[in-house]
Amino acid sequence: MLKIEGLTAEIDGKQILKGLDLEVPAGEVHAIMGPNGAGKSTLSYVLSGREGYEITGGSVTFHGKDLLAMEPEERAASGLFLAFQYPVELPGVGNATFLRTALNAIRRQRGEPELDAMQFLKLARSRMKELSMPEDMLKRGVNVGFSGGEKKRNEVLQMALLNPSLAILDETDSGLDIDALKIVSEGVNALRGPGFSALVITHYQRLLNYIVPDRVHVLVNGRIAKSGGKELALELEAHGYAEVAA
Ligand code: ADP
Ligand code: MG
Ligand code: MG
Repeated sequence: MLKIEGLTAEIDGKQILKGLDLEVPAGEVHAIMGPNGAGKSTLSYVLSGREGYEITGGSVTFHGKDLLAMEPEERAASGLFLAFQYPVELPGVGNATFLRTALNAIRRQRGEPELDAMQFLKLARSRMKELSMPEDMLKRGVNVGFSGGEKKRNEVLQMALLNPSLAILDETDSGLDIDALKIVSEGVNALRGPGFSALVITHYQRLLNYIVPDRVHVLVNGRIAKSGGKELALELEAHGYAEVAA
């Protein structure tokens, strides 16, 4: 489903990814852990097609297609979703309008009919019910006055509506409080199934108590230094990156 081979990338002439190999089969949740500055966020930005990163070598195939040759919109339409580390506030833009615009942009790219306001509300309400979310979140401005937990909830709702085949969740190193952790985890766990994969990027082990990964990879200095099962996360927590990835 996702296959990364020998990926090298730089920003401002500084090499950050130094020959990264990673494979995520359909239906699996993989965690990427690693010390600060290892290149975790760079990997997520490179995969999503953010500007400013120069790919200097290697390949990435997504559903058998060359991901790196695709525009960011095409990547999203192909099923790639990147959760925002720092959600933006958009005063004056209703959350329902924002979410519907995002969904319709993807539907247009896929050649699917756009949803009108009524059709969207119906879909959004059913998804929100599944995720036990209060309906008034749709009526508010995008993230305006949202608590940290509500912002996360909104991100999870956006993910559930877009229904990605690969979600990349890059969590801030400052970490989330326990409530926000649970919201994100429940959202990801609710989507788990044969057509959904996730790359969960985290500096800390505790998120993985809630989202139990199929595989754990340790990213050190721009490369995957070690891969293993979910127990690898506990080893890292106990012994640190330097020792485990040596
Ligand atoms: P992580 O997410 O693992 O903490 P990042 O991918 O954010 O690591 O950063 C990897 C390295 O790239 C760090 O050394 C960081 O200082 C550097 N870096 C990130 N963004 C830029 C930038 N815009 N210009 C120069 N260096 C950058
Ligand atoms: Mg960092
Ligand atoms: Mg980071």
